[in-house]
Formats: sequence, structure tokens, C-alpha cells
Amino acid sequence: MKYQQNIMDNNIMDNEEVFWQPEEGTPYESFGAECESGWAKLYQPLIDYVNAYNKLHSPGSSIEIHQIKEKFGGLRFYWAADNVSTDTIDEFRKMVEDAEAQSWTVCEECGSEEEVGTLHIGWFYTRCRECARKIVEGIGEDGKWKIGGKIYTMDKDGNIK
Ligand SMILES: [Zn+2]
Repeated sequence: MKYQQNIMDNNIMDNEEVFWQPEEGTPYESFGAECESGWAKLYQPLIDYVNAYNKLHSPGSSIEIHQIKEKFGGLRFYWAADNVSTDTIDEFRKMVEDAEAQSWTVCEECGSEEEVGTLHIGWFYTRCRECARKIVEGIGEDGKWKIGGKIYTMDKDGNIK
């Protein structure tokens, strides 16, 4: 029985997930985690879980990581399971959902959990205030920074109003 977690999340914006060809290998095999290392503490336990599971059960039963990436400012972890019990699928799905939900409060760049918001400046970046400031400074125009449900304008000095 093949279980694929990410069907509902597929859409036109997510074309690399829709269009990768199984014979080419997964994006995860090709590129590793496609996000900054601040989120490693969120996705590494998931990778460890998959590796431990597969070491014990593969080839008869396995979990496959398809892609780890940032999308619209949040962590996405795409995976599929082959011949895996419903209990294990439910447990792992919960872990993935928790990590994805937590990513909104962890700076993708440095891993800080202090003053983390989502910067919108051409693209979305979930960053702490200092890492957001660096992006605003690099781009050279004010950005919108959403934190705690409020949207501020951030200038290159990190001032928000
Ligand atoms: Zn940061």
C-alpha cells in the first residue's frame, strides 16, 4: 500500500513537486534540504526518524523523503510511505505537521525563536528581526514584516512602524 502525504498540498505553484520524475530520483536525493540551516533542528529529527525506520524495515516497508524546502515562508516536508502501518503513518504525519507549524516561529536563517516574523519583500522569508533586517538592507527597500498577527513596515536599519 502506497501512502502519499502531499497530494492535498500540490498546486500550480509547487511545480517541482508535481513534475519531478521518479526515475530521476527525488528532489531530496538531488538537492538535500532546500532551505536555510536555521530549520535543521525542525527537519533533522524527521530525517533521523525516516533513517531509523528504514534501517529496521526496508526493503519490505519504507518511508521516502521527497522534498524538504521553504514555501511561502514556511517549512514543507514531503514524503511518502510504502507498506507502513497506519499507526506509524499517523505518528510521522503528526511529527511533520508539528515541524511545519513550528517553522513560523523559528528563524530559517539562524534558528532563533526570539522575535520571529515573516518578511514579505518580493518573496516570503521567516526570519528573526536581525536576519530580516539584513535582507531588507540587501534589497534596499522597505519590507513588510508580519509578527504576532500584526504587519509592520521594516526599514534597512531594522526599525519597524
Ligand atoms: Zn535569525
